[in-house]
Amino acid sequence: MGKKIAIVGGGASCIAFIESFINECNKESTDNLHFMVFEKLPEIGPGNAYQSDAKSNLLNTKAGYITALKDRPGDFFKWLDENQQKWKPEYPGLEIHEDTYAPRPLFGMYMQDTFNAVVNKAREADIKVDVIQDEVVNLKENYEAETVIVSTISGADYEVDKSVIACGTSLLSPDALINHKQIYHSPYPVDNITNNIPKDADIAVIGARLSAIDAVIGMIENGHKGKITLYSRSGLFPSVRGVQGRYKNQYLALDFINRNYPDINITDLSDLFFKEMERYRAQNPDNMEEELVFPPPPITDFEKFLSYEIDMAQHKRGWQAVLYDTNSLLADVWGMLPDGEKDWFMNEMLASAMSMRISIPIENAIKMREYVRSGQLQFVTGNSEIAKEGDQLFITTDDGQRVETGAVIYATGSPRDANMCDSQLLRNLLQDGLVRQHPFGGIDVCEQYHNIVDNSGNFSNTIYAVGEITNGKFLFTSAMDIIVRHAHKCATVLHKHITHGIKRDLVA
Ligand SMILES: Cc1cc2nc3c(=O)[nH]c(=O)nc-3n(C[C@H](O)[C@H](O)[C@H](O)COP(=O)(O)OP(=O)(O)OC[C@H]3O[C@@H](n4cnc5c(N)ncnc54)[C@H](O)[C@@H]3O)c2cc1C
Repeated sequence: MGKKIAIVGGGASCIAFIESFINECNKESTDNLHFMVFEKLPEIGPGNAYQSDAKSNLLNTKAGYITALKDRPGDFFKWLDENQQKWKPEYPGLEIHEDTYAPRPLFGMYMQDTFNAVVNKAREADIKVDVIQDEVVNLKENYEAETVIVSTISGADYEVDKSVIACGTSLLSPDALINHKQIYHSPYPVDNITNNIPKDADIAVIGARLSAIDAVIGMIENGHKGKITLYSRSGLFPSVRGVQGRYKNQYLALDFINRNYPDINITDLSDLFFKEMERYRAQNPDNMEEELVFPPPPITDFEKFLSYEIDMAQHKRGWQAVLYDTNSLLADVWGMLPDGEKDWFMNEMLASAMSMRISIPIENAIKMREYVRSGQLQFVTGNSEIAKEGDQLFITTDDGQRVETGAVIYATGSPRDANMCDSQLLRNLLQDGLVRQHPFGGIDVCEQYHNIVDNSGNFSNTIYAVGEITNGKFLFTSAMDIIVRHAHKCATVLHKHITHGIKRDLVA
């Protein structure tokens, strides 16, 4: 009998998942396999991150290092080289090298082609892949038949054997915000804010991470003339990427930790980081020596902060290479830490760690500094509160200052409380108790198998989740290499469960 697998969301996780699943089938085949990919947007591949809305949105990973496929490092760069006729007409004059931070829409084009390539590869393995352009609004388990009913917004129901939730980042629901036509719950698509906010309006951007930078650069490069203020609760801003290449950790590496630190804690991790830095410095004598302050202090002078970061970014910043290489072990090490330390880290240190860990290309930092110097951009540290009076919007900050603003853009990412997200599917699943929130964000899944966990703590044997929706469980999922690795793990496990069945004791 055939098996149907529904994938909710046709972004990076979906592509990586199907590709890995086909590879598993090539090792041990499964008859009559049928993937049904549900995607609410018109295109499969770009997902939320790599849409064609603004050429000014840059990848934060160098072109030579980013790929959607596990066994094909450098695949994006190869695609750029082999498909110049597809992208050059839209980007005349753009030269891309392995170290370029390419426009994200280009990666979206690559993702579309990669999806098509994966569908062809599936066909060769006798696996059917159908795309259903519809929004999934609910999943229900049929416990007796061990199937799942997938319900869509258009009113259709599909019965499948397994379902994978791969719906990416969810945003703050507009319902959680003041109702005003100049309040935007997300900067994306960037052409929505550039087309709808009057060019001379003063704008408040809530948040100061990557999506806030996309909003500022997108607005100004599209002719915005009004002032823009970034409001950052933590007072932190991403570091700027140096010129170092990749580095393979020896001490901050999973096998080393498993062998030597079975009960690792955050102090051990910090010691290992400094040991790793010594090794990095020995191998890279031209590394820039920097005094690392952790947690970094809140920014008091934005221009000075940017100038320092831009100067440092002309050099090798070994600490960034060491931190980058921890992508491959983050989820495992996070799972090993005592619960109390996880709580402390999430509540006290996360913003600081992210500001150092998620760095931005120097091009963007230089643009931001130009805007500050011209007086168009400013940065405010501390809590801020939005209020509506009649048609007017006001923003009040910790120091009691209250200013009128013409528009407010929330660039705060996924809300930690999944009930406040804009996904009807997630809200329904939470309401029905089929999934439970992870206290650190997103939904709870089994660490080993990616099965979802219901509100009584039971693992599902038919529904799995992968990608950004699992960010609380795994601490950090917002990078392609992590997404691809998790999708591969989920595909391997799901293939095993389909071919050999899944016993409760396997997952509990
Ligand atoms: C703005 C942004 C920029 C990023 N830039 C980088 C970068 O430069 N480098 C890097 O390594 N990583 C980056 N990331 C992190 C990560 O690589 C991407 O987020 C990645 O695309 C996540 O994959 P995903 O499959 O989990 O989600 P997505 O790729 O977003 O795919 C989810 C898909 O599900 C669809 N969907 C959602 N709900 C439903 C539903 N109910 N029914 C049907 N369809 C649904 C969405 O429309 C979307 O297409 C970025 C993330 C964001 C948000």
